[in-house]
Amino acid sequence: MEVYDKAELWDREAIAQCQTARLRATIGQASKSPLYKERFAAAGISPESIHSPDDVQKLPFTTKDDLRSQYPTGMLCVPNADIVRMHCSSGTTGTPTAICYTQNDLNSWADLMARCLFMVGVRREDVFQNMSGYGLFTGGLGIHYGAERLGCMTIPAGAGNSLRQIKLVKDFNTTVAHILPSYALILGEKLRAMGEDPAQFPLRIAVVGAEPYTEEFRQRIEELFHMKAYNSYGLSEMNGPGVAFECQQQNGLHLWEDAYLMEIIDPATGERLPDGEIGELVLTTLRREGMPIIRYRTRDLTRIIPGECSCGRMHRRIDRILGRSDDMLIVKGVNIYPMQIEQVLMMFKEVGQNYLIVLENDGLSDVLTVKVEIRDECFVEDMRVLQGLQKKIAGRLRDEILVTPHIDFVQANTLPKSEGKAVRVQDLRVKK
Ligand code: ADP
Ligand code: ZN
Repeated sequence: MEVYDKAELWDREAIAQCQTARLRATIGQASKSPLYKERFAAAGISPESIHSPDDVQKLPFTTKDDLRSQYPTGMLCVPNADIVRMHCSSGTTGTPTAICYTQNDLNSWADLMARCLFMVGVRREDVFQNMSGYGLFTGGLGIHYGAERLGCMTIPAGAGNSLRQIKLVKDFNTTVAHILPSYALILGEKLRAMGEDPAQFPLRIAVVGAEPYTEEFRQRIEELFHMKAYNSYGLSEMNGPGVAFECQQQNGLHLWEDAYLMEIIDPATGERLPDGEIGELVLTTLRREGMPIIRYRTRDLTRIIPGECSCGRMHRRIDRILGRSDDMLIVKGVNIYPMQIEQVLMMFKEVGQNYLIVLENDGLSDVLTVKVEIRDECFVEDMRVLQGLQKKIAGRLRDEILVTPHIDFVQANTLPKSEGKAVRVQDLRVKK
């Protein structure tokens, strides 16, 4: 197998050895920040406390609130002058956190990103168009430097502006794109509206991530553009993209265990869960010098896929992210994730590219409405057909989420679009 980095071919023993050594070094480095210094002292931890990767469980967790409390530079473990870049999280769930990088940190991040791209078949001959926002968001420069590192001609197109995106793809014969899942369908729709067939577009691979989406959504993207779409996972606290990435098997994302140490825990108790069980992903940086982070509670829900991948890489795989623990909706006492709703919607070919989950309270109980864009060609049909479809969707959703929603059909392109991460839920309930 041709790989970008030899570390991809390591066996479990080599990975464990590397993790043990790097975890020790990380503890030494992290102790230079006041927060970790104090926490390690309180727990009696030193690099010598680590004899295997499992010993990470002796260390304290780090939460998003810890990072916020140290904003902007309280977590630094190198002199300020050694920092060459900073990024922020998107702030999807509150005040953003700031991450600072040394030149070495940027180099290893670009290498990880290049490794991901190479794994799915991107080569230096490809033209890579990055359709994600630049600026503080890590999906811009993070992906950009990875594609450049691989040697691709890299176009920093930025987010939105579909007409310019389309022109660039055509003029430069773009073969690979990084794109938000919600935006991929919007772009396809735009092409159709221009009377063009998205399948004729030169794109052959898309790197799709930054927000949750279902397998059904991926298939729509692939069919629309006749290309392969690979899931890309990362978060700014762990550099950004490049943490975990699908291989060509498209069956889970390999999490690069030479750079990050992963655990899945029960979010309520903090106890580690066995492989295969869904819980909160907890990550420790193993290679970062500017701002190492120990046992970071990502709040992202996933599971470790048991067994080995047929591609031969031994870095374990995580399943596609179900959502954040904060995304969970409690409707009439039932726990629901937006992705459960998306999965059902995407099974219906009449359903268009956008939907919105609206929660209200009629004074007695919760009311769940799903607004669904319907393809233009389906809207002209007879009322009875539409009502039948509404019933069918509501029934399927009830089977999945155990709550019967109202289904509102709306015309294509009428629900609000966002340039960044999609907003799938509007909670209008009055908080008691
Ligand atoms: P924020 O947490 O403020 O959105 P980031 O830009 O750092 O800031 O985003 C990282 C988060 O985005 C992850 O923690 C995760 O919730 C989500 N995310 C990133 N990639 C994926 C993906 N492939 N699938 C699902 N969610 C993802
Ligand atoms: Zn694989």
